[in-house]
Formats: sequence, C-alpha cells, structure tokens
Amino acid sequence: MTHLCVAIFVTDLAQAQRDVAAAAEAGADMVELRIDELTDATLVADVVKAATLPAIVTCRPTWEGGQSTLTDEERLDLLAKAAEAGASYTDIELETFGRAGGLPGDGGVAPREQRAGVIVSSHDFAGRPARLTTTLSELYAAPADVTKIIWTARTVRDNLEAFEILQRRVKPTIALCMGEAGLVSRVLAKKFEAFLSFAALKAGGGTAPGQVGVADMKRLYRWDALGTKTKVYGVVGSPVAHSMSPAIHNAGFDEVGFDGVYLPLLVNEGYESFKAFMESFVPFEGLDLSGLSVTIPHKENALRYLQEKGAQIEPLAASIGAVNTIVIDRTDGAIKLRGLSTDYAAILDSITAKLGITREKLADYRVAVIGAGGTGRTAIAALAHYGATVVVYNRTFERAEALASEFNGRSGKVVAARMEKLCDSCCQIYLNTTSLGMHPNVEQSAWGDAPPTLDAESVVFDTVYNPMKTKLLAQAEAAGAKTIGGVEMFVRQAAAQFEVWTGKPAPVKTMREVVERRLA
Ligand code: NAP
Repeated sequence: MTHLCVAIFVTDLAQAQRDVAAAAEAGADMVELRIDELTDATLVADVVKAATLPAIVTCRPTWEGGQSTLTDEERLDLLAKAAEAGASYTDIELETFGRAGGLPGDGGVAPREQRAGVIVSSHDFAGRPARLTTTLSELYAAPADVTKIIWTARTVRDNLEAFEILQRRVKPTIALCMGEAGLVSRVLAKKFEAFLSFAALKAGGGTAPGQVGVADMKRLYRWDALGTKTKVYGVVGSPVAHSMSPAIHNAGFDEVGFDGVYLPLLVNEGYESFKAFMESFVPFEGLDLSGLSVTIPHKENALRYLQEKGAQIEPLAASIGAVNTIVIDRTDGAIKLRGLSTDYAAILDSITAKLGITREKLADYRVAVIGAGGTGRTAIAALAHYGATVVVYNRTFERAEALASEFNGRSGKVVAARMEKLCDSCCQIYLNTTSLGMHPNVEQSAWGDAPPTLDAESVVFDTVYNPMKTKLLAQAEAAGAKTIGGVEMFVRQAAAQFEVWTGKPAPVKTMREVVERRLA
C-alpha cells in the first residue's frame, strides 16, 4: 500500500493538532511533521503524542533545504524524543546518518522494537543529483527501513527515472521529483508502489515545490482508484499547469468507472523536446501510457512525429496540419500510434447542433472566421471541407490571405478580408478564434462596440471559454442571435478523445459540469 502523506510544518501544538485533523479529514493516512522550527523536546513529544495519524517526524537542516539551524546532535536528540513519544518514522538525511554513524539517541543501531522506523533521505533542489546511482546505493546500504530520494525535475522525463528506482527497489522506497514537471511522479507513486507520496494540506501550499493539495490528489487525480494496472493519459503542452483537461477527463473516468488517470505533462517548446518525450514515455514498461491530448505548442509537432513514425493519421487532421489527440494502442505487446483532431469535429458539431443541420448543409452558409492562428486554421479547413463559404478576418491580413489561398477551392470558397471590414460583414455564422475577450481582457470584442447586423437566424460562436459569456456573446445575445460558447467546443473535443481512448460513451453532462464549475 502506498501512503498518502500530508506534510505539515509545525509551529505550535494547537496548529499541529488542527492540521493533522484536517489532513485526516481530507483523506491522508499519514502525516509528516516537520519540526524544523522547534527546539523544545517536550513540545516535540507533545506534538507527536497528539497526532491522530501515523507520523513521520523530520527536522530538516538548512543545508538540505529545511529550516533547522540546530547541530546534527541536537536534531537527532529531538528525533529520538519523537520516536519515544510514538512517531511511526523519523527521517534522517543520508549525510547526517553518515556523520552520526547510526540511529538517533543510541549512537548505533538499536533493536527494532525500541525505535520508530527510520527513513534515510537525500534531496537535491537544484536538479537531478549528479551521483544519483551512487547516492541510491548509499541510501540502500544504510540500516534504515525506508529509502527516500527526491530531486527537482529538469524535464518531465526525470519522472521516468523515479519510476525506474521504484521498479528496482530493494526495500520500501520513496522516489519523487519536485517542481511542476514532477507532478507525474507524485500521482503515479501509487501505480509504481512507492512507500508514500506527499501532498500539501492546501493547494499551492506544502513543504516542497510541486506538492499537490491532498484534496486534488484524492479527487482530481483519483488517488483511491489508482493501481498498478491503471492506464495513463495526459495533456502534452507548455504551459499545462492550468489546463482543465485533467479535471474533465478524470471526472469522466470516475463517472464510468474506467481504470485511468489523466495528468498534465509539461513538455518544453520545440520538436526535439516533443520527440524526446514520445520516445521515452511511450515505450516505458509499466507506465501504460495509452493516450495523449496535445495542446500549444505541440499540435504541429505531434503531426510531424506521427508522420515520421508512419503512424495512422486522420486525413482531415493531416490537411489541417495539426493533431490534438494521440491514441496509443498496446494490444498484444505491439505499440501502435494513431493521430487525429477532435478540435475540428468539435467546431463543426457545435455549429450543426445549434442549427439542427447536417455537416453537408454547411455548404449553404457563409461563415466569418475571425482569427488565422491554430484554431482559425482548424475551423477554416473543416468548414471549407464541408463546402461552406468562409471569409477569414485577421489582425495580420497576410495570415488571413495565406490561409484563404491554401484552403480556397478544396470544397468551399475561402476568401480573406480586412479586420476593419468585419462590422460590415454579411455572414450567417460568426466564429471568433482569436483570444480577444479572454480573461483578463474581458472588455474586448472582435467587433469593438459596433457588431454587424444580426438577427434571430445568425449564429455567433466564440471559442474563448474564460469567461463563459464573453463580450462578443453578450453583444450577440442582445441582438437576438443564437450563441455558442467556448465550453461547448472544449467539452466536445474532450468527449471525442474520451470515447476514442476508452471505447465508452463520454459522460458529457458530468464533463460539462466540471468545466462550468471550474470556470464559475
Ligand atoms: P494562436 O494560434 O496564437 O492565434 C491567435 C489568433 O488571435 C491570431 O489570429 C491572432 O492574430 C489573433 N489575436 C491575438 N491577439 C489579438 C488582438 N489583440 N487583436 C486581434 N487579434 C488578435 O492561438 P489559437 O491556438 O488559435 O487559440 C486562439 C483562441 O482560441 C484561444 O485564446 C482560446 O480562447 C481559443 N480556443 C478555444 C478552444 C476550446 O476548446 N474552446 C480550443 C482552442 C483554442 P495575428 O495573426 O494578427 O497575431
């Protein structure tokens, strides 16, 4: 069993009692009491005695990233008192261990029954330790019960090394990566049967960089449902920390009882970073990576990578030039990759559902696409494919022209127009794919304060979803037009990914509620 351990900085007895109680209520089954700031052995004993969960007691010195300025001897004395008072474990740095030549309070290795379990630990806040293998051997050689090695992930690939350590462990082991890229190791510690993973009492708090809040570990990342066979999914992008995709997919997995977990995967810009990620994560034994969402800045990289690998690619995704979904099929031990775009279908289906028409009927419509970036391109390719007449408006006119000449005549007609002319446009559908109006610039609208003539038959679709009702949509509503918000597209593209990965109908209602709750 992998413990979910909430790390608590102790300042006084009442605060420690409160925080331990809150950790228990949030679902932790262990706490780490960081007594770095304490110097009074009686207080340490009281804090330990009052803890209602099994406790690890740690007095981390400043030279190992903690706050204690006590000598080794003084810290070991405090830990000995903690052990006497009933701590389940004490955590001692490898370096302290080496200098002390044994366990706290006894000058050597005491009989097991006389002491708490001992965790021997090593931390590197700067990055992957240069002597990782040697350090690990030294940790294992120490007469401790649990080995703990923690470092700051330089890239998401460092997590794999933590998993390898867990796979080859010779005793109960904690191997975690700190920082944003290390989140993967914190959640998947349970899949790889680590001794524990740490969580913060509150999101954004904690005792080490990158600790996830205990409530998010339990609910958002499905801690209780995780097992060794859990399939792993994630969103590859940069930035990904605030992506809503983990919330929407994990809620979907929960709802249908699918054994999967979905994580943010921070992969730096550039094709080489994307390729290195794919080459290391996809084949990693035991990870069961089964599907990926791809977001900015990797949608084009994903297509290129899949093309290089000779993977199956949906034709329209190839003509759009971007893939937002990768399926990793591991049937019979062979790995097969498939790339598709659920973005274009989400755009088309949001419109056709609102109008109650088939995709083919789009050929009767004239659509203003505002924006010529990635989403604009997807919309133009998809609408033109079904024969719509598309007018592309963009701040940088040359980009609109380039897209018009690329997609004109494939099925529908595509022309470029100057942004200044947007308000004189006479289209039935307006589709904003720019970031205008997105939080915090909520006072912006692609139309400024002068919308074109709209009526009850007009459709106005804003792909921006934060806020849910943009100024553009409010203007459209005021003019009596039909409106479609960005949440509609977001939920549809996610639902299509969910279905292609799980083979189950997506619980769309739950997925939509999760997004709306987060945005509200
Ligand atoms: P992108 O490739 O960077 O394109 C941005 C577009 O916005 C470009 O056309 C750019 O014009 C235009 N733009 C940016 N700032 C502007 C300004 N101040 N005034 C006028 N035009 C401006 O971005 P993207 O990937 O297409 O994403 C664009 C938006 O789509 C996002 O902000 C997001 O809200 C939305 N989106 C929604 C979903 C969903 O599921 N609902 C999914 C993806 C994207 P220039 O060419 O002149 O720079």
